Amino acid sequence: MSMETTAWTQLQSVMSAQQERRPLARATLRRIGTFARPHHRRIARFVALGVLTALLAVATPVLAGRVVNTIVSGGDEGTVVRLALLIALIAVAEAALGILGRRLSATLGEGLILDLRTAVFDHVQRMPVAFFTRTRTGALVSRLNNDVIGAQRAFSNTLSGVVSNLVTLLLTLAVMLTLSWQITLLALVLLPVFVIPARRMGRRMAAMQREAAALNAAMGTRMTERFSAPGATLVKLFGRPEEESAEFADRAGRVRDIGVKTAMAQSVFITALTLVSALALALVYGLGGWFALRGTLDPGAVVALALLLTRLYAPLTALAGARVEVMSALVSFERVFEVLDLKPLIEDKPDAREVPDGPVAVEFDHVRFGYPSADKVSLASLEEVAALDTRGGTEVLHGISFRAEPGQTVALVGSSGAGKSTVAQLLPRLYDVDEGAVRVGGVDVRDLSAGSLRGTLGMVTQDGHLFHDTVRANLLLARPAATEEEVWDALRRSRLDDLVRSLPDGLDTVVGERGYRLSGGERQRMTIARLLLARQRVVILDEATAHLDNTSEAAVQEALAEALEGRTAVVIAHRLSTIRGADQILVVESGHIVERGTHEELLAADGRYAELHRTQFARAPQAQAQDAAVAANGTHRVTIPT
Ligand code: ADP
Repeated sequence: MSMETTAWTQLQSVMSAQQERRPLARATLRRIGTFARPHHRRIARFVALGVLTALLAVATPVLAGRVVNTIVSGGDEGTVVRLALLIALIAVAEAALGILGRRLSATLGEGLILDLRTAVFDHVQRMPVAFFTRTRTGALVSRLNNDVIGAQRAFSNTLSGVVSNLVTLLLTLAVMLTLSWQITLLALVLLPVFVIPARRMGRRMAAMQREAAALNAAMGTRMTERFSAPGATLVKLFGRPEEESAEFADRAGRVRDIGVKTAMAQSVFITALTLVSALALALVYGLGGWFALRGTLDPGAVVALALLLTRLYAPLTALAGARVEVMSALVSFERVFEVLDLKPLIEDKPDAREVPDGPVAVEFDHVRFGYPSADKVSLASLEEVAALDTRGGTEVLHGISFRAEPGQTVALVGSSGAGKSTVAQLLPRLYDVDEGAVRVGGVDVRDLSAGSLRGTLGMVTQDGHLFHDTVRANLLLARPAATEEEVWDALRRSRLDDLVRSLPDGLDTVVGERGYRLSGGERQRMTIARLLLARQRVVILDEATAHLDNTSEAAVQEALAEALEGRTAVVIAHRLSTIRGADQILVVESGHIVERGTHEELLAADGRYAELHRTQFARAPQAQAQDAAVAANGTHRVTIPT
């Protein structure tokens, strides 16, 4: 490593040290140990290799000294050639060991990445939905990428850096001391001159770097804001282009100034450090030459000392930086462990049961529930706020009780924010109740296994999310073993077969965000097809409120009727046809069930339902007629009024 690059690494490590000042966490170290344990053999080999490399590194200068001594003392040519050959051999061995070491550290590092990544992925997958509603996806993905890689890099750097540098340093010093303790000590006196300004300078440089980053960001936001379509329009309409330009030039000018300042500071710093090392070298030559002329030191020792000195500063600076490496490794590891330590709120009991066979009833028994507060489900650092929102926890459902008998449909109606979706989310155990119980087939959902619950409950949501994948893959998610015929049958019954046939690649057409864009109604029918394929016994349905055009609304209606047939269903209902057809209607307001009964009973009671019916469900006469037609004609034939 040249003096200049050495000084540069030192500068950078000192700079980053200013940002990461944290106490060593013993527990974190222990945990890193558990991740390192499976690789212990490789680590041992790696360390042995480091020691061997360090030994070879010290051998060359000593041999060079021998060459000089042989020349000076008028020894024979054979010795010189043998020594030179030995030096060549060591160089080859060093190269080979270097490659071997890199290979070892790469397999070690990548192995560690693999272990950490899979651990985080497995864990995050088991987190409750509440976690994902809170967490910023970008922050989470960054944990899986940057932090995991940061942890690995620091791990292998520390390992290779600390071990081989420490050995090199100690060996070099020992050899130097035996050659001439006076010169060695004097050369070391210069060290504080090397380290102390480095620290002070590093702090200044870090401050400058932060300032530059802030200035750059300010300039950048200005550009993105002004160059966005609405921003540009605003400038065109109201802005004063001259002032805009002047202000931008001012910001850009400040970026230039800090750039020049940083470059100068860096150059002064590096020059100073290079100078210090060069001075130490001059000292070795001067003092060593003096001793040699006096006969107290042989010339070979002077050469060996000079060569050793150049090799001393590299491990020294690396070790100075190692503390930083260890610190940032710990930070990265801690950030990964932080995610691993989040306890999944919802987990299978060790003796989790299966849902009983046959048609099942669904029951809410005095259910009270409040969404868990953020500090229970997430991490402040993943939400990028200073402190977690600790509100939450307020009760949303205040004692909900109802029962849907096998095959029955229960419709939930009520104003927005009443708690209907919350009821729907408690059934598949996306959240756990605070009090009371939710039962499927007479068993508390908390006693059921997640797999069995998944196999029993199907949910159709309003937006009908599809993965960026083929139609086939999106459908098979529900039942990977389904045959081609079954897939087409589900598509036919959800009124999607014609559409899929017309797609460019049929079942293999990629849908989703960046694939073939399906309309809202089509997406919902796709989730219905998924449900029909999975053949779950209980259906939870969040009816789409978004306006669907007549054709697609009718198709969705038909598909839904098909999906609900013979199944126990809990429906958040917005359409008169669904509500009319329900065996029981629950009117939910502010987390209470305020009315229950059939459509006719509730209309006759002339309470909240009747009011809702007048204001919400009874829409334009045309739509009502359509609803009535769907209700009257059953599932298949629908007349669409024109
Ligand atoms: P509805 O489906 O009847 O429109 P919801 O069940 O979505 O009503 O909401 C019921 C109440 O719960 C509302 O006050 C809402 O603000 C609150 N709520 C809904 N989702 C969450 C959440 N993820 N975290 C905290 N509160 C929520």
